[in-house]
Amino acid sequence: MTIYQMLARNWRKYPQQLALTDDQQQLSWQQLGQRVEQLAAWLYHEHDVRNGDRVALVLPNSIEFVVGVLAIQRLDAIAVPINVRLTTPEFKFILGDSESTLVLTSSLTSKAIEPLVAQGLVGLWLDRLDPPTVKAAEVPPAPVADRLSPAILLYTSGTTGRPKGVLYNQSALHAVAMMMALEMSMSPQSKLLHLMPFTHSAPLNLFLFAGLLVGAAHVVAPTFTPDLLLTLVPKHQVTHFFGAPVAYLLTAQHAAIESTDLSTVTHWVYGGAAMSTGQTQQVQKAFNSNQFYCVYGLTEAGPSGTLLLPAEHATKAGSVGQRAAFNTEVRLRTDNGRQPAVGEPGEVEIFGEGMMACYWNNPAATQATLTADGWLKTGDVAIQDEDGFYWIKDRKKDIIIAGGVNIYPREIEDTLSAHPAVVEVAVIGVPHAEWGETVKAVIVAKEAQQTLEPQLKEFLAARLADFKLPRLYQWIDELPRNANGKVLKHQLR
Ligand code: ATP
Repeated sequence: MTIYQMLARNWRKYPQQLALTDDQQQLSWQQLGQRVEQLAAWLYHEHDVRNGDRVALVLPNSIEFVVGVLAIQRLDAIAVPINVRLTTPEFKFILGDSESTLVLTSSLTSKAIEPLVAQGLVGLWLDRLDPPTVKAAEVPPAPVADRLSPAILLYTSGTTGRPKGVLYNQSALHAVAMMMALEMSMSPQSKLLHLMPFTHSAPLNLFLFAGLLVGAAHVVAPTFTPDLLLTLVPKHQVTHFFGAPVAYLLTAQHAAIESTDLSTVTHWVYGGAAMSTGQTQQVQKAFNSNQFYCVYGLTEAGPSGTLLLPAEHATKAGSVGQRAAFNTEVRLRTDNGRQPAVGEPGEVEIFGEGMMACYWNNPAATQATLTADGWLKTGDVAIQDEDGFYWIKDRKKDIIIAGGVNIYPREIEDTLSAHPAVVEVAVIGVPHAEWGETVKAVIVAKEAQQTLEPQLKEFLAARLADFKLPRLYQWIDELPRNANGKVLKHQLR
């Protein structure tokens, strides 16, 4: 099924059922379908949007975003969702790289797009538009997309460098939606809360499209705050939520969590970054739930990968599970292509129907990311324990090599973040004349460096081998993060 066929099916099967709400307006599947047809007709006639054109969306999670992305699909064009928090040069890069001819935006969006519109980019403010009802003669030709047609072009957030466009065809999106719907028991009775930006692969492909596939209802809000999560879940009787670890950690610290009834949620899904064993336990306790699912994957893989199920959290929290998600295969490989022994690190490789078709206009990068037999190299280093569970040690690019020994910053970060005075921490390698690199901890803390640093040194020395201990410490007010909340280590370096 194509993305548009999913909408058409819900419109036919559940016309009066709730499809989408932004907490103010409510749209049934029929109303959503009609809004999509209106916008598609308008884009077709007034703006000549045709098969294969790239149309950018610079919109927060909103009714306009959902209508916009589906109208683009209705015309067999390619949607390019871009995070609203980017700056003008960042927008310019993505719009230029994707050769987007048109951008759909709204007054809620930052003004950073406006200078580009002044320079000739066509911008349509969807909340100021009221496309007329479509007359029969104006209905655009029926979509012809098939399973191999390109549908979505999503830019990786660039935590490891410049963003690259990841192109998905219809069958990859269907495979990933099917995986998630099955793994998370989604149905037309489910209610999905979307607070993470649709410009990221997990919220869009795993949550919005999976819910679309099964006809679940969608509750959207423009941004994540713990308050919104704690308000919208009971108000809309939400059943499924996806959040980055940082969203769960912030909510767990919110005073209102104790008095909020979150019991309608059957699936608390987290992923996109690491959550340590201690943090996972802290979140489970605060949310008073055992219904936590960890998803591990990356944009290029759909983002399908592995899953850690609720029952497995008791003994394996902090790992990413022991089995690949439906429709997906996972393996580890050493640098010389061998399967590592138990406990020996190797790079995670993924194969599955949800994989990207390619990087946009970048055959060299596409080739470099695939193995000779077509598996996707993730750039993540992991070990498998004696029970087969995968533990992500770190991203290959973040590993510190000091005196020829590999040091995994994540292990040091997890240990340091267990100290009560540490708010956030990032560990990086910095150049060292003798050892090549040395370990540096960059810390956001509740106490001053002068008093806390000696305590942290003692705390770490009792828990980690000497060669892993940070030689340098730096206190800062806030870690630099990208628009999706991931720490920008290249900036720290
Ligand atoms: P870029 O690829 O440009 O650096 P990015 O980091 O935002 O941008 P994503 O595809 O969103 O790109 O990130 C995927 C990476 O996030 C994975 O390769 C892995 O390192 C990390 N990751 C995702 N899920 C998990 C998880 N459950 N546990 C640990 N790490 C995870």
